[in-house]
Amino acid sequence: MNNAIELFGSMVFNDQIMHQRLPKDTYMSLKQTISKGKELDINVANVVANAMKDWAIEKGATHFTHWFQPMTGITAEKHDSFISPQADGSVIMEFSGKELISGEPDASSFPSGGLRATFEARGYTAWDPTSYAFIKDNTLYIPTAFCSYGGEVLDKKTPLLKSMEALSYQAKRILALFGQTNVDNVVPTVGAEQEYFLIDKSNYEKRKDLIFSGRTLFGAKAPKGQELEDHYFGTIKPRVSAFMQELDAELWKLGIPSKIKHNEAAPAQHELAPIYETVNIATDHNQLIMEFMKKIAPRHGLFCLLHEKPFAGINGSGKHNNWSMSTTKGVNLLEPGTSPHENAQFLLFLCAVVKAVDDYQELLRISVAGAGNDHRLGAHEAPPAIVSLFLGEELTNILESIDKGKQYDNKSKQVLTVGVHVLPNIPKDTTDRNRTSPFAFTGNKFEFRMVGSTFSIAGPNIVLNTIVAESLRQFADTLEKADNFTGALNDLIKKTIRKHKRIIFNGNNYCDEWVKETEKRGLSNLKTAADALPLFSAKKHIDVFEKHNVFTKSEVESRCEILCESYCKTLHIEALTMLDMSKKDILPAVLAYIKELSETIAVKKVIGGSSIDFEVELSLVKRLSNLSKSLQEKIEALDKAILGTYAIEKMSEKVKYYREAVFTAMQEMRAVADELETNVAAKYWPFPTYGELLFNI
Ligand code: ADP
Ligand code: MG
Repeated sequence: MNNAIELFGSMVFNDQIMHQRLPKDTYMSLKQTISKGKELDINVANVVANAMKDWAIEKGATHFTHWFQPMTGITAEKHDSFISPQADGSVIMEFSGKELISGEPDASSFPSGGLRATFEARGYTAWDPTSYAFIKDNTLYIPTAFCSYGGEVLDKKTPLLKSMEALSYQAKRILALFGQTNVDNVVPTVGAEQEYFLIDKSNYEKRKDLIFSGRTLFGAKAPKGQELEDHYFGTIKPRVSAFMQELDAELWKLGIPSKIKHNEAAPAQHELAPIYETVNIATDHNQLIMEFMKKIAPRHGLFCLLHEKPFAGINGSGKHNNWSMSTTKGVNLLEPGTSPHENAQFLLFLCAVVKAVDDYQELLRISVAGAGNDHRLGAHEAPPAIVSLFLGEELTNILESIDKGKQYDNKSKQVLTVGVHVLPNIPKDTTDRNRTSPFAFTGNKFEFRMVGSTFSIAGPNIVLNTIVAESLRQFADTLEKADNFTGALNDLIKKTIRKHKRIIFNGNNYCDEWVKETEKRGLSNLKTAADALPLFSAKKHIDVFEKHNVFTKSEVESRCEILCESYCKTLHIEALTMLDMSKKDILPAVLAYIKELSETIAVKKVIGGSSIDFEVELSLVKRLSNLSKSLQEKIEALDKAILGTYAIEKMSEKVKYYREAVFTAMQEMRAVADELETNVAAKYWPFPTYGELLFNI
């Protein structure tokens, strides 16, 4: 591998390159756009585009593309070449400011949830200059936002940028109250840890379920799972290590700060953690991380599974979304300070998050809801579907004592008054390894652990930014009116703690007592995506999005439609795949084995009469015949369940039907098929087993 320092960002039109290649006034003007969100002048854009093109061509690029993130959850691109034919038959390479700033891809085939009639097929992309352009596959990639002809948002990037603006605006109001009036912007910072599985590519190709749905729809448990806990942080196997090295090199070229890699808890499971960045950039980078994982694995004879639950019975994969807020100067607003003043500010921002998570539990839950994540949340391995917040003992005690106006601890005899006293030292909580909490404070940031491994992190962060902006707005409205700031601040923090402490839970989120306790506390428990998704367009949610100019009502409604539809389609594809595998692979394999056994019995009868025993064969034939009959019934039941979907019009009912009828039929079919697997000779079983998939790298 090349020198990492040379490699890092070598394919990115970053600040350093801009500084080198742009005239000084163009550079300054672009910087203003990037840091202050000032609109980009077309003359400046022309100069930038030209410099970008020259740089890209030197690096071997021939094309450019506006790169955007439609509602499919993955990225989209349409490549244009730089060539421009001349009258004399030659070509020159051109790239204009207009082409840099905006594009017009056909929008008709992207999901819009009914927002845009297909005859208005035009969509627009607009450059997000805060995310650097980069080169990949000889193409200059320009990160963009995507909207329709009428200006309605059709992607995940635009609302993310809007939610960042909302958060910045409200956070700056609060900072101003603390005397900080010279802050350019407050940005959410995110480090998204990505979990994934690697399996042998040739095994992958033998399984239709993995090919069509990304997860195993059948599969009996292997004799060994993760019970020995010998995989977590274990030595990385050579083939996997070679994959990881190549992945790092590719990511570093694009300036993606991939930092940590290790084996995860389940066999064949791994994790990559990048260093945190501003959330829109972290989002772009997470998309590229997933794309490169998929792309590089086959070069090593591997296949990368990003699904939340590729295998039943062992851990699934998540994406831990580490989130904080920072000023553009890099001051982390969730870092406890060392003076009374700093700590009052810290406590206020902390309370804003506590309040947001409590007020909008359901919205957070919805932001991580999906068919894949349903297998994970609440399955005693990942956080439960119930949203709660972990603060650690020390911080919880501090908040309690502020609430009760009691002495904080016996030694110091200190009654904590916010903004007057220094907070005691808040240790980075070691019990943070309480991995059961869905939303944990880890010393200077929150870790939202419910996000699924396939998710774009845009959705959950749009919600987080917006709901924290809403808390901050309410705080600022109160405090700006106050005559005595310190008094009002103390009062506000006390009231907030009292009202929202029900959301704080530091114990084990997996135990049944917690579920009972949440009922007492009145916390929301949306068990499945089918319960959660239709609530996205509830009035409360539309209100908060509209108030902060993140989504309009019709945008929320269309998004809700898209999410529900995608849930149904996912289950539909899984169900059809199961039917196909059962009818064409499993049942024929079992029948072939039965035939062999029956022939053996017949032969034994002919040569030995009753003197040769055929008990074993006979009992197997009986058992397999019964199970086959049962499988046949399950096939019919699932067929029927699927037929039932076509009659349902209303989306919220459709979602529930898929969960209740289709999913249940799928589970029942799987149980029978898995039972068959444990009884059929290996040479007959039509696809690789869990043992082969998980333990052969
Ligand atoms: P921990 O040991 O608590 O898990 P790490 O330092 O390993 O913390 O960080 C885990 C992830 O959190 C990394 O991706 C890291 O970059 C990210 N992270 C650290 N600080 C912040 C922050 N201020 N904002 C957002 N993410 C952060
Ligand atoms: Mg973590």
